[in-house]
This record gives sequence, structure tokens and C-alpha cells, in this order.
Amino acid sequence: MSGIYIHIPFCRRKCIYCAFYSVALLSRKQDYLDALRYEIEQTLNYLPSRNINTVYLGGGTPTLLSINEIEGILTKIRRHYTLKPDGEFTIEANPEQLHKTYLKDLLSLGINRISIGVQSFNDETLRFLGRKHNAEEAEAAVHLAAAAGFDNISIDMIYGISQRQTGEWEADLQKACSLPIQHLSCYALTKEENTMLWRKIHRHELPDMDEDLANREFHQLLQCCRENGFEQYEISNFARNGKVSRHNSAYWTGEPYLGLGPSAHSFDRKSRKWNVSDLSQYIDDIATGHFSGDSETLSLDDQYNECVMLGLRTAKGINLAQITELYGEKYRLQAETQLRQVNPEHYRRKEDCIILTDEGEFFADGIAEALFVSSLLTARHT
Ligand code: SF4
Repeated sequence: MSGIYIHIPFCRRKCIYCAFYSVALLSRKQDYLDALRYEIEQTLNYLPSRNINTVYLGGGTPTLLSINEIEGILTKIRRHYTLKPDGEFTIEANPEQLHKTYLKDLLSLGINRISIGVQSFNDETLRFLGRKHNAEEAEAAVHLAAAAGFDNISIDMIYGISQRQTGEWEADLQKACSLPIQHLSCYALTKEENTMLWRKIHRHELPDMDEDLANREFHQLLQCCRENGFEQYEISNFARNGKVSRHNSAYWTGEPYLGLGPSAHSFDRKSRKWNVSDLSQYIDDIATGHFSGDSETLSLDDQYNECVMLGLRTAKGINLAQITELYGEKYRLQAETQLRQVNPEHYRRKEDCIILTDEGEFFADGIAEALFVSSLLTARHT
């Protein structure tokens, strides 16, 4: 079943770690909304069906749009697509923009899941990260969303920040788990190229990433989530009461999706295309019908590699019988043979599945590389 992702490319300012495409050019908001409406029409035949399971408004900062602007987008989507009655409709939000009326209006538009970019409950850390909200606003935003009627609330948190005081991550986790949330996404701070963080590390104004710290805090995360009823269903994602992100789960299981807006990616199982990461160029592209994004066709090797990379990140792991069925026996043999290079403490076998252990999860990318076809790389971290 397919999903639609809509990229809202506006942020008031850039957080130091962020590599997502966004601009502060709110003056072009109306041009963007007009272009987006055209793009919805231009891409109607991309997905195999007009019945969709999920819609995800991400960014950028979707909550910089007014309720009327969001309603305009959704009306257009609903005119052409049918969201299943039990479909998941997510909006990403920043805490400082959430207030009672706005939240109730989002619900009345049919948005039934909210993902709040909290990142930390410590003011100093939030300032370091370049976030606009403070700890009080972060906590208040979650309570406001729950009080408004959201029963599927996710928050994002960041670990592995070496500038933080000892014990702060533990305190952040305890605070997160005490809130009325159903979902937690936690990512290690990474130095993505051309971010402010990357430049500061490059100029030696900040120390490089501390992998040991990230590893320790990752294990604290696993323990805290287990103690508080959160089930880990993907390396960085935890859900209570079965409220997994269905939209993101579909990415990890290789379902097709349509991405709209600048920098958004689309996938039809065999190929991927992505829009240009430039708002003005995107608007021009839509107006002229010229496509200056890019695309790639995935060979069988590529499809197998992606299946391994994404599957290993999930609690279900990769299924070797399914690999044989989808790609052929050759690929199963590849996985079985290459697995011998991987530290046996980093994975376990359950029937036909290969599932990473807690230890192995931290090294998931290296383990996936070891299993890739045509890869001369071995698992660096195993
Ligand atoms: S982290 Fe979110 S709010 Fe910060 S710059 Fe990136 S998209 Fe914008």
C-alpha cells in the first residue's frame, strides 16, 4: 500500500545539525503552494493505486503553514486520492508553534498523528543545537497536543552530544517516557556534510563526534524504552501500544511512495526519482514542465542491497526466504556467505531471519555493507 510525502521547505532558521532542505524565504510560500498543487496533478499516475494508506507532511517546518494553507493542500490530495478510513495522517511540528486552537484545527482536518521535534529537554542543549524552543515549551507542546485530542504523538530526541552534562541524556529519556506520547524517534547526532556542525568541527571549533558516548547512550535508550513499555521496531524508533509509524514502516519494507515538494524522493519499487533541492528551481520546474531533479533505476543488486540495509534496521530483520523469492538463490547465498565476516555477537538467526542484537544495532550500517553485493567493503565495525 502506498503513501504520500509532502515536503514543506521552510524553517525560521537552520539548526546546526540539519541537512534537510529548507529555506527561510517565506515570501515564496504562495508560489510554493501553487507549484505543489500543480505537482499533485502532474504526478497522478506515479503510484500503482489512488488508494493510499498514509500521508506525511514533513520538512522543513510544516507548522509554519496556516490552517487554511494546510487545508488547501489536503483538499487537493483528497480530490485525487482516497486515504483509507484507518489511514495515518502525520504532521511534523516544532514545539514553539503549537497552541490549542491550531492543534484542534489540525485534528479537524483529519490529521491524526503529530511528530514533535523536541530533541532535548535541556535549555542549554537546545541552544547549542540551534533550536528555537526551550524545554518548557517542548513539554507544554506534548501536553497541549494530548489535551487537544491527539492520541498518536511522537517526539524526536537526539543523543551522542558530547557538550552535554553527565546524566542529561538519562534525564531526557525519563522525561520523554513520562509524557503522554506513543512514539519516540531517537537519532545520534551526526556531522552531515555542509551543516553548521560539520563546518565547526572542520574548523576545530567543536570536538568531533564521540562514538563511544553515542554507543553508551544508545544502550541507555534501549534500556529506558524497555522499562517504559516502548517496543523497538526499528533501530531508531520505538512505539507504545502498537503505534508504530506506518508511513516510515512502509519505507523500510520497500512499499512505493510519492514525494512532493523540493528535495522530495519518490520510489516505485524499481526506480527512484527526486526533486531538485532548490525552491526557486522547483517552482520554475513545475511551471515549465522541465524536470531538473534526478532519478535512478535500481538494478537487482541495488534492490537486494536496499532490502538488506533497510531490513537489518528493523526488529524483524532480513528474511532469507523472502530474498530468494524476490531476487533469486544467488542473493541468499551472498548473504549467507558474507555473514561469516560479521561478528556472531552482532546478530542472531531466527528461522530464516537475520536479526541484529542490541550490540549489533549500533553497527548496522557496517554489517549491511558486509552483506552487500558488489561491495569491496567489509564490515568496518564488526
Ligand atoms: S531540524 Fe527541523 S526545524 Fe531545524 S532546520 Fe532542520 S527541518 Fe528546520
